[in-house]
Amino acid sequence: MRLALQYCPYCGEQDLRPREEPDGAWECADCRSTFVVTPVPAPARGSA
Ligand SMILES: [Zn+2]
Repeated sequence: MRLALQYCPYCGEQDLRPREEPDGAWECADCRSTFVVTPVPAPARGSA
């Protein structure tokens, strides 16, 4: 499952393209930065 980013974390550009390698990586078309989105499990809903 690939997460979708809306904005580049470096420049804020929205033109992001998914990369084949490494898995989960995106490349910003504007600043050419590549970053990997790591899925983080949501905290379990409990009776806190
Ligand atoms: Zn960027």
